[in-house]
Amino acid sequence: MAHVRPQSVVDSALACSDDGMADKDNAALHGVAVKTIRRWRRLYQRRGLPRGQTHLAPPCPRCDGAPLRRAEYAERLGWYLGDGYISRGRRGVFNLHVYNDQRYTGLNAHVSELMALVKPGGRPHTRLVPGAVITTVSWKHWPCLFPQHGPGRKHERPILLEPWQQEVVEVFPGDFLRGLFHSDGARVHNWATRDVRGERRRYDYPRWQFVNASEDILGLCTWALDLVDVPWRRSGPRVVSVSRRDAVSRLDDLVGPKD
Ligand SMILES: [Zn+2]
Repeated sequence: MAHVRPQSVVDSALACSDDGMADKDNAALHGVAVKTIRRWRRLYQRRGLPRGQTHLAPPCPRCDGAPLRRAEYAERLGWYLGDGYISRGRRGVFNLHVYNDQRYTGLNAHVSELMALVKPGGRPHTRLVPGAVITTVSWKHWPCLFPQHGPGRKHERPILLEPWQQEVVEVFPGDFLRGLFHSDGARVHNWATRDVRGERRRYDYPRWQFVNASEDILGLCTWALDLVDVPWRRSGPRVVSVSRRDAVSRLDDLVGPKD
């Protein structure tokens, strides 16, 4: 029976399967039923094609002393803490996922690039869900690079950086902040009118906000803002705000537009 899905989808799903992605995640990523993934794997095995790793897995910066792209890592760490998660796949492989609004086409392309730089040669897979894009890369070593991975939701457990991660962020705080503010942050506009010499004028007040349910992650955000001398305040139980004009423009320079 011919596949009703384009061959590119079948090939991509089989590649994910070879990378160890769990059938459930693979099905979700490709928008097909779990049983379809299983059928493709069966057909593939029956055709006697080679299975398993067809490429050498890249060495791990933690286990194998491979070089780490530190600026990209700092940014990817921000994305992970903001809106990323890791799931366990097959054969000891983990999937690193990022959810992001599909409006941000430039950012989504950038997230894919980042993931391929942090896992050298990584092949990001993307999937559209209503309103969002999920970008996924599989690797056995994601928990080495993101040891904050653990059971439960991030705001229900302590999130502390290891000393080597702190060192990376201390060298690349702007990149870390870019990841945080582009995942769980927003640049918002408030405006007000004022009468100046009898004339009504409108003033815009742009502001950056970072919103997260984890007090630890909010603390990492304010720690990094302190590292780059950007004044902030806690404007709510889950919110860090940067609203002084000079601070907003400094943060604009560091993290760039969100689009
Ligand atoms: Zn490792």
